[in-house]
Amino acid sequence: MNAPRRDARLDAAREALARERADWLLIPASADFLWLTGGHARVTERLVLFALPARGEPFALVPRLEAEALGGECPWLALEVWDEDEDPLARLAKRVGDARSLLLGEGFRTAPLLTLAARAQCRAAAPVIAPLRAVKDAEEIARMKTAARHADRVVTETAASLRPGLTERQVAGAILARFEAVGQTSPWAIVAAGANAAFPHHSSSDRAIAAGECVLLDLGAYHEGYGSDITRTFWLGRPPEDFARVYAIVNESRAAGITAARAGAKASAVDAAARAVIAAAGYGEYFIHRTGHGVGLEIHEPPYLVAGNDAPLLAGMTHSVEPGVYLPGRFGVRLEDLVVVEAGGARRLNEAPFEPALDAVGAPSAAG
Ligand code: ZN
Ligand code: ZN
Repeated sequence: MNAPRRDARLDAAREALARERADWLLIPASADFLWLTGGHARVTERLVLFALPARGEPFALVPRLEAEALGGECPWLALEVWDEDEDPLARLAKRVGDARSLLLGEGFRTAPLLTLAARAQCRAAAPVIAPLRAVKDAEEIARMKTAARHADRVVTETAASLRPGLTERQVAGAILARFEAVGQTSPWAIVAAGANAAFPHHSSSDRAIAAGECVLLDLGAYHEGYGSDITRTFWLGRPPEDFARVYAIVNESRAAGITAARAGAKASAVDAAARAVIAAAGYGEYFIHRTGHGVGLEIHEPPYLVAGNDAPLLAGMTHSVEPGVYLPGRFGVRLEDLVVVEAGGARRLNEAPFEPALDAVGAPSAAG
């Protein structure tokens, strides 16, 4: 991370501290840590903290065996290195002293959290830090666009390789391999065939895919730290009428959600617009999750597109629109695109087509 961008983020965090009349911001190993410092802190039982005072210079509390790596990534950052036989919170107390009011980031383990809460007034930092991170700059959006292009290609290639007899797990493995072959990191995949697609977060199993059933592919990976997330649903063979009907409804819902997203619109309005299409078609009770979530350094992060979240969307936010209809015991359809919020609307980051019918002939092949 270059110095001007880092300084801008630290200044924004200091402003949040001042607004909240808090003395210190303490951020454990997390995506917020990465966003603020540019350094990767490992999430382990050993405490790592980025500590930013309302006035003055920040430091990082870091265990000895992580210090060299963090120092290499963040040469600008002062390190408070603790040894294995030390209590890191005692070390922290020496620096933070008699601070009265702390803003704590997501990711603390229970014991240090309770210790800090016994010493000072502690509040969650998320309400003031998450909105800063949710608005992406041009470089972040460019990385997400590249990530989305890789996801578009992987979902399209994977669909073309689907054959009766392949198991969900084999297809998932092939998805991970496709991402890794082009340098995308931490790929993941949900592959759900037939009635399994009626479970929105199905774990890919050893169930073989058969001709004449649906296959849902939800997948993503990270490009230079920024995530992708796309879902397409297919039918192996010629789709029957009920599937084709649900598919068309879900696709219309997705389009309505994207149309409703723009700077200034309430997050809940996107959910309402997508949900209205599905409800009007009589499938409202089968759309059992929120319409979308922010994506950036994490695959799920604010803003959440859900009833009750009336916070306005801001230009530069990136989020999914992913309505679904899940018919227990039969099939499920989810269609998901990522968008970037702009002044007059939302621009899709994904370009993968919506063509559910797949050729069902052909022998099982290693979906490499
Ligand atoms: Zn997804
Ligand atoms: Zn998603």
